[in-house]
Amino acid sequence: MRIVLMGAPGSGKGTQAQRLVKQFSIPQISTGDILRKHRSEGTELGKRADAIMAKGLLVDDATMLEIIRDRVTQPDAQDGFILDGFPRTQPQAEGLAALMLELGTPLDAVVLFEVGDAELVRRISGRRTCSLCNKVFNVYTAPPSSPASDCVDGSTEHQLFQRKDDEEGTVKERLRVYAEKTQPVVSYYLRTGQLRTVRAEGSLEEITERLLAALAEAVAPAPAVTAPRKARKKAPVKKAVARKRVARRAKPKAKARARRIVRKSAAKRAAPKRKVAKRVRVARKKARPTARRTRARRGK
Ligand code: AMP
Repeated sequence: MRIVLMGAPGSGKGTQAQRLVKQFSIPQISTGDILRKHRSEGTELGKRADAIMAKGLLVDDATMLEIIRDRVTQPDAQDGFILDGFPRTQPQAEGLAALMLELGTPLDAVVLFEVGDAELVRRISGRRTCSLCNKVFNVYTAPPSSPASDCVDGSTEHQLFQRKDDEEGTVKERLRVYAEKTQPVVSYYLRTGQLRTVRAEGSLEEITERLLAALAEAVAPAPAVTAPRKARKKAPVKKAVARKRVARRAKPKAKARARRIVRKSAAKRAAPKRKVAKRVRVARKKARPTARRTRARRGK
């Protein structure tokens, strides 16, 4: 399955992507995570992306497309992947379509997560990441279990921190950028007919159920187009009869014209017979012995 998950920051696509990873055994490809990894490793790209991310802006399309090409061609992505956070602009969506075409692996589904604005802000402002195990929690909707037996070093508590780009000022900018740059991507996938929408409010289980239903619908084979019933073979209609039929069905003016054609063609058909009859008459007349011819023959 090759899936694109779309939605505003805080729409929960990352959390649902992790659930799909377990369900389908395909990797989640989060461009945000890839950029954060570059940043923490201090790569050239990471340094460049750092300032952009901190402002809530977007990294350029060419760089993002290169990252995606490199990632989707890895061996673990050959049976599919879940794109989370990509594409975010129309050029990225078009670039992705071209890449899929080139690789001969079309997307199976594009799902948009729909969440009201108030809920988005609540979710983002409550988001916390554990600096030890990198797990993402939400102090309102998904608080970590305590004690944290699921943390890497078996510590009694997760070490939670708020991502810089989840701080209020940056969140507002991210939502503005989403509306400006990513809404056109929604329209793009509406036009291509690939977009499915899922209401992403409610419990995690409810949203997963809706998401799975949307994916099932997306990959379901299109309803078979029932072949039109074979038309009964009509007996060939004689030309003259067909013309008469047309004349009967036609509008008054056309009717008169059609009738004239019918009459003319009938006359044409009759013409050869008349000609033959005339020739026969002439021949018979010639053959009939006239009194003058008879006298001439007798030498009178
Ligand atoms: P995310 O974790 O998906 O919200 O991404 C965090 C930040 O990474 C974004 O605010 C952008 O600055 C950058 N980023 C992630 N994905 C993309 C993308 N597809 N195009 C451009 N910038 C991106």
